Amino acid sequence: MMGASWSDYNKGEDILDIWFDSGSSWSVIHRDGIERADLYLEGSDQFGGWFQSSLLTGIASNDLPPYRQLVVHGFAVDEKGKKMSKSIGNVVDPDTVIYGGRNQDKEPSYGVDVLRWWTAQAQLQPMVNIGQSVLQRCNEDLFKIRKVMKFVLGNIHDFDSELLLPYEDLWPQDKYMLYQLYHLAEEVTQSYDIFRYGNVLGRLEKFTTADLSSFYCSVIKDRLYCTSAKDRTRRAAQTVLYHVTNVFMKSLAPIIPHFAEEIHQHVSSSEESSVFKSGWFTIDPAWDNHAILNFMQPALSIKEDIDGCTDIDRPVKYDLTLYCSHNLHNILQEFQSEVSSATSSLTEILQTSYTHLTTVAPDTVPDDCIVLNGASKVSVIEGVKMPEEYVLLLTPARKYICDRCRRFTADKRRSPCERCLSVLSNGWE
Ligand SMILES: [Zn+2]
Repeated sequence: MMGASWSDYNKGEDILDIWFDSGSSWSVIHRDGIERADLYLEGSDQFGGWFQSSLLTGIASNDLPPYRQLVVHGFAVDEKGKKMSKSIGNVVDPDTVIYGGRNQDKEPSYGVDVLRWWTAQAQLQPMVNIGQSVLQRCNEDLFKIRKVMKFVLGNIHDFDSELLLPYEDLWPQDKYMLYQLYHLAEEVTQSYDIFRYGNVLGRLEKFTTADLSSFYCSVIKDRLYCTSAKDRTRRAAQTVLYHVTNVFMKSLAPIIPHFAEEIHQHVSSSEESSVFKSGWFTIDPAWDNHAILNFMQPALSIKEDIDGCTDIDRPVKYDLTLYCSHNLHNILQEFQSEVSSATSSLTEILQTSYTHLTTVAPDTVPDDCIVLNGASKVSVIEGVKMPEEYVLLLTPARKYICDRCRRFTADKRRSPCERCLSVLSNGWE
């Protein structure tokens, strides 16, 4: 009843039997021409109660169950698995979770999003623990996503849907992220379809930690901060971040609406007044480009070797010579067409100052050079993966640190590098 106030309701006194009365409540919606309810949601104690009495009355009257699906949620117990009871004093009041208790040090205010996060991650288990440590964990999980989204939103502040670049103009790591995003989005949609809200959160958290935070957002900073504002490589990274924002905002909206709405208010090109009026996300089938994995695998494997080497504290302090087979060279040229580059997509992934790409074994290896040998499986003939070997020669960077981009790419001491000088002389805008 839209617009009804509390005074429009009267307490019903005419009760035949509570199970018969509740079990025939479907007749109210049936009257509006709706054949069946999409969903009945209750605890497992209702198999013998409301679910059954509804089924009996529905079949007896219409030969049809009054619901299409049942979802059964668990019961909340305390952190030790004990049933909540006022006499034991272990009852967790939702208002206390949202607003905090008398002693805010012991019972801080988490807000309604954390309470909803906890409810969703409970994943319809029969018994669901709740208490301060569980809520604290939910708060930390939400904070991780909040922190990454803050970075993402900050970096698309001057971007909108008009500036989105076509897929073909993106770098391989951008396409790789869209591939991951495509599969994330599909799994989120499927999880919602089967009421697995915990899977939605788990998948978003995994993507945040593994793909966004520790990989993509950490490697694209030079493109975002140091190229000119309208540089197409910057716009390419922003294109990915824009799509990520859209998928995250809409995936999170049913579970943590306030946070999703907050994201929505920061997306400058939002045409709708609320995320809830903007519909579900659309994902481009072109992003599901499986071939991109074949390109990314060797680049990521080389990155892993460099990052895992304990003698290297920061790859940016090194120039890399990458000596490899012709097959691998052909693949890596997708990331760097020049022999040597400080601004290629490969250099961005590896985070070195310069990357030299060669198939010719170097004549001499300098004494201060760190040598790493590796191999990565690549598919040269479609479907057949063969290990291709490579050698990484990392020498301390030859050039000086650039005061602007903090990479060892400057020809003179205390001076910006050539790229930065060019950006500065043209104005960052
Ligand atoms: Zn620079």
